[in-house]
Amino acid sequence: MDAGLFGGTFNPLHNGHIGIIKYVKQAFRLEKIFLFPSATPPHKSVTDLAPAQDRLEMVTGWTGGMEGFYASDIELKRKGPSFTIDTIKAFKKAHRTGVNFFLLMGSDAFFDITTWKKQNLIFQTLPIIVMLRGDRIGLDAVASFIDENISKGYTLDKGQSKFAHGQLQPVHICNVPKIDISSTMIRARVNKKLSIQGLVPTNVEDLIKKKDLYK
Ligand code: ATP
Repeated sequence: MDAGLFGGTFNPLHNGHIGIIKYVKQAFRLEKIFLFPSATPPHKSVTDLAPAQDRLEMVTGWTGGMEGFYASDIELKRKGPSFTIDTIKAFKKAHRTGVNFFLLMGSDAFFDITTWKKQNLIFQTLPIIVMLRGDRIGLDAVASFIDENISKGYTLDKGQSKFAHGQLQPVHICNVPKIDISSTMIRARVNKKLSIQGLVPTNVEDLIKKKDLYK
């Protein structure tokens, strides 16, 4: 079974996240995708961060009604900043056999990976699927980034949109539909008392209202 791991601040979870993971699930025939909100984003300074439990509830509320999507509180249970490599290891340990995990990342997160703890280990441990938002970044930009920052040993198979390496795990590229929604935009709209209907799932909209978040 192939499964995806998708971490994010989810502050809040929005229809951009949902659109891209639904697309990747189909494109890569992933049986399951696990969404894991991060407690204290280690490389992101976020003001106006909703409590971890609320962000988890946004994710569990949505995955609860969706087949093949699961929420994980793995990073929230950990004390202090949490690092993706530790999460990957924990998933691998919990599903010892029969599951091939892929790490799903937006292009902004991927280009930030050099600041991640033990990033080399990530490339040794599991394949990555980088989700490109179409307009801004192309394969060539990813190729130069990988070459300069990760390893000169990757070669691009353009037909398959895949970077392969003799020793390291492949990096797949997935051109996802362009959905112009970000958590920053949602928070700003809530703050300005503008509607967020259709931009987030209804359970998220309800929770933001109920808990009076992002005011
Ligand atoms: P913020 O606006 O607060 O920076 P965000 O909307 O980017 O947040 P995160 O929870 O930080 O949300 O995102 C998790 C991952 O989802 C990141 O890798 C990010 O690149 C990706 N992502 C978020 N929104 C979109 C979108 N509309 N299209 C494609 N990828 C997205």
